[in-house]
Amino acid sequence: MNRQGILIVVSGFSGAGKGTLMKELLSRYEQYALSISATTRAPRPGEEDGKSYFFKSREEFQQMIEEHALIEYACYVGNYYGTPKAYVEEQLADGKDVILEIEIQGARKVKEQFPKAVLLFVTTKDAQTLKERLIGRGTETLEVIEQRLARAVQESEGIEEYDYLVINDELETCVKEIHAIIESEHRKIERSMELIHNVREELKSFAKGES
Ligand code: 5GP
Repeated sequence: MNRQGILIVVSGFSGAGKGTLMKELLSRYEQYALSISATTRAPRPGEEDGKSYFFKSREEFQQMIEEHALIEYACYVGNYYGTPKAYVEEQLADGKDVILEIEIQGARKVKEQFPKAVLLFVTTKDAQTLKERLIGRGTETLEVIEQRLARAVQESEGIEEYDYLVINDELETCVKEIHAIIESEHRKIERSMELIHNVREELKSFAKGES
């Protein structure tokens, strides 16, 4: 029996290292599929269309909204970001655990539509580390870094809406921890009802001496 895929939402402050974590997780375990979002943000150096994001104009993004091609979308520091629906549905149907690396407004919308989704929040061990990482990666101007830190303040208010908090101090430990969380989720009784039902039925027929 193919086990049912889990929809996993990963959010976290800008600079918390979500991207690196997801890359590691995907390279180690075959069970995961990472959703590629659409965005109106300009590509950073090294980002490829269709790999990091599907880079869209505002008009193209608007069209995706109108065609109901997105599961959710949100505005983040002046740009739109959204999750294309078709890929997520296909991968879940295929038994994959699908990861959405999205911000908090999107996470809320996903939880409404998919109540069984598992929500993870990734943080650094303190705010200073976050600021240093954001400055250190050098992909944003100081103005944008300040906007992203302001956004982190807002997002920190919503952490209680998530199921798990993951502290990205040491990459190796953190990747293993995320994988362990997902594996535990697979073992939840509510996700195994079909198997439980089948075992019960078989047991009943054994007890009656039918086979
Ligand atoms: P970045 O510009 O750093 O790549 O992403 C900015 C923020 O947008 C991050 O918090 C990221 O998780 C979030 N994000 C990326 N894709 C999506 C998406 O499809 N939907 C939503 N709601 N947020 C997204």
